[in-house]
Amino acid sequence: MRTFEYVRAADLPEALTTHAGDPGAAYLAGGTTQVDLMKDGVLEPIRLVDITRLPLRGVVDTGATVRVGALTTMEELAADPTVVRRLPVVREALLLGASVQLRNMATIGGNLLQRTRCRYFRDPSVAACNKRAPGSGCAAVTGPARMHAILGVSERCIALHASDLAVALVALDAIVHIEGPRSPRSVPLTEFYFEAGERPQDENTLRHGELITGVEIPLPPVRTVSGYLKVRDRVSYEFALTSAAVALEIDDGVIREARIGLGGVGSKPWRAGGAERVLRNQRPTVENFRDAAEAGLVGAWTVPGTAFKVELAKRTLVRQLQTVSEVAR
Ligand SMILES: Cc1cc2nc3c(=O)[nH]c(=O)nc-3n(C[C@H](O)[C@H](O)[C@H](O)COP(=O)(O)OP(=O)(O)OC[C@H]3O[C@@H](n4cnc5c(N)ncnc54)[C@H](O)[C@@H]3O)c2cc1C
Ligand code: SF4
Repeated sequence: MRTFEYVRAADLPEALTTHAGDPGAAYLAGGTTQVDLMKDGVLEPIRLVDITRLPLRGVVDTGATVRVGALTTMEELAADPTVVRRLPVVREALLLGASVQLRNMATIGGNLLQRTRCRYFRDPSVAACNKRAPGSGCAAVTGPARMHAILGVSERCIALHASDLAVALVALDAIVHIEGPRSPRSVPLTEFYFEAGERPQDENTLRHGELITGVEIPLPPVRTVSGYLKVRDRVSYEFALTSAAVALEIDDGVIREARIGLGGVGSKPWRAGGAERVLRNQRPTVENFRDAAEAGLVGAWTVPGTAFKVELAKRTLVRQLQTVSEVAR
């Protein structure tokens, strides 16, 4: 058994200085990812900095945005009245994830920073994993792969970003608020994550010592209709094979604005800008939806085990565009 030190931070400065001063430190929120990975021997922090007592919990409707504290749980965010009324895509993405027990522990900050479910990453007895052991190779590229990514991948890593919430949030242009030993900063979620590239071990812009304090979600115009479709091997307690977060503003039979995120396919939560461009100022027809889906999957790179995802992701997006546009009528 490996020992580690546990520190419960009383306030934000204590959390930041304790973490920043120790290269072996890791933050602990709900623990549903962090503790699993420690038990499996994938992560071996020397010190855990428990942030659950920090005043970073709650949801505020500012009129233009929804401000979500990083320690708000998934269940709390899904039940927030503004989210229920104005952001169904966020609510559905949350409620289709994990289980109710997990959602009552799991925090929004932790959800965005959850690690990949790649089984080779999660099994330290597998030697080849560039994300866990940089330079060691990638067992998924040559071996069986299924719950893996097809967009934003490289020959070094095809790991999937598994968060459902993040897919809805990239579609809505959410902003991540960060505090650190230096000055606070804010980053659009679309720029927060990195693609696999040459250094799959680097997953996002967060530097050691920095902490996510919250997420800000711009409220779309009132007439926007949105929703999340998740396709998976079983209907509950399972990660997405593919998913689509869609928000449409339809006026006079024409799509004025389309926001689309794709899940189950990207090394990061995938904003499908190409699909959005195809749909803007077009009628909500199946032909246009198919064209959008083609554009959304441009650049897909597959291995034999993930080839099925290209067609499945297209069909998922077409289906969700149909569902949302019918509600908008
Ligand atoms: C069985 C199971 C099924 C699941 N199914 C789904 C699913 O279908 N869809 C889905 O989206 N997710 C799913 N999840 C993932 C789950 O949503 C995440 O584990 C959870 O949201 C992580 O939040 P946490 O508070 O427990 O984070 P922790 O486990 O405490 O932390 C996760 C990581 O984030 C870091 N961290 C946490 N908070 C902060 C912060 N504020 N600032 C900086 N770093 C921080 C930690 O150091 C750690 O590296 C599932 C998890 C499990 C175990
Ligand atoms: S896909 Fe990425 S995380 Fe999975 S084995 Fe390959 S390098 Fe590791």
